[in-house]
Amino acid sequence: KRLFNFCAGPAALPEAVLQRAQAELLDWQGKGLSIMEMSHRSDEFVAVAQQAEQDLRDLMSIPDNYKVLFLQGGASQQFAQIPLNLMPDGGSADYIDTGIWSRKAIEEASRYGSVNVAGSAKNYDYFAIPGQNEWQLSADAAYVHYCPNETIGGLEFNWVPQTGEVPLVADMSSSILSRPVDVSQFGMIYAGAQKNIGPSGLVVVIAREDLLGRARASCPTMLDYAVAAKNDSMYNTPPTFAWYLSGLIFQWLKEQGGLEVVKRVNDAKQKALYSAIDASELYTNPINVADRSWMNIPFRLADDRLDKPFLAGAEERGLLNLKGHRSVGGMRASIYNAVPQAAVDALVAYMAEFEKQHG
Ligand code: PLP
Repeated sequence: KRLFNFCAGPAALPEAVLQRAQAELLDWQGKGLSIMEMSHRSDEFVAVAQQAEQDLRDLMSIPDNYKVLFLQGGASQQFAQIPLNLMPDGGSADYIDTGIWSRKAIEEASRYGSVNVAGSAKNYDYFAIPGQNEWQLSADAAYVHYCPNETIGGLEFNWVPQTGEVPLVADMSSSILSRPVDVSQFGMIYAGAQKNIGPSGLVVVIAREDLLGRARASCPTMLDYAVAAKNDSMYNTPPTFAWYLSGLIFQWLKEQGGLEVVKRVNDAKQKALYSAIDASELYTNPINVADRSWMNIPFRLADDRLDKPFLAGAEERGLLNLKGHRSVGGMRASIYNAVPQAAVDALVAYMAEFEKQHG
């Protein structure tokens, strides 16, 4: 029996997709072998890979002058790959610090050049996002990097920074595909797959074509975006199963009605959970209301001695993985696309029941 899974990642996947993958596992489309056992250069796999890219392009309305790359190394590898490709030797880039993931990106980029932290949520104890009028962007930055949704802190931009001619680079690991975005406002978008895209082992990069071919001479061949693009993300053997399964998720999202519909569902889910938190005496979420994440909702109990019984009761009711990140404690409910309204309703009902007993 499948239970409700609020894990931040690897996260819940749609049951319908897993059922289809299960049905195809031993014998993919009557070929007598699984998709994992096929050459990545076979006509069959190439067709699967191309369809996945096309479906993602359709879902996000990705303009033709952007390449879509299916790479390895997770989002963390992008923290190095971005400066190696976009920041010239001795160059600099602007970074916005809104939490743990932005800071990891800053730390890694600092190994390759000069990083200007142009804006920081530190002044707000990471409970609010500073407006762009509080940032100090530099005119000569190679790019501006930010994290639209901080998975651990639970802060999300509900606006897109305006950086003029300087390319905007976004770590969309935990918010991609949760609602529509205007891709043309970005130089580059990247996202680790294991939340809204598919299983881990894959990172999707959407890059404007004019940003490819700028890698510094010391950039490893495997990390050069231009090499990946020229080889249709098959310079070496790609993670074929993760790519295939991500393709099934993209089809599932299209069947749901695309990202406008997904946005409406996600909006209803986040409203239900934040309303329950705000209406209670026991639970709190500290984030500035306008900057609250739709996908990752951290909350605390008034007395942290109640954390253990809360988690135990949740598990008994089939509500899994609600423990907050070890660096912040408390609880966190990650409610990605594959987590249905019914899961949120069940969580809200349990929270009310627990509050009645312990409040
Ligand atoms: N960036 C964000 C916003 C994340 O949430 C995560 C993982 O949770 C990462 C980066 C790191 O991703 P990966 O484990 O794929 O390197």
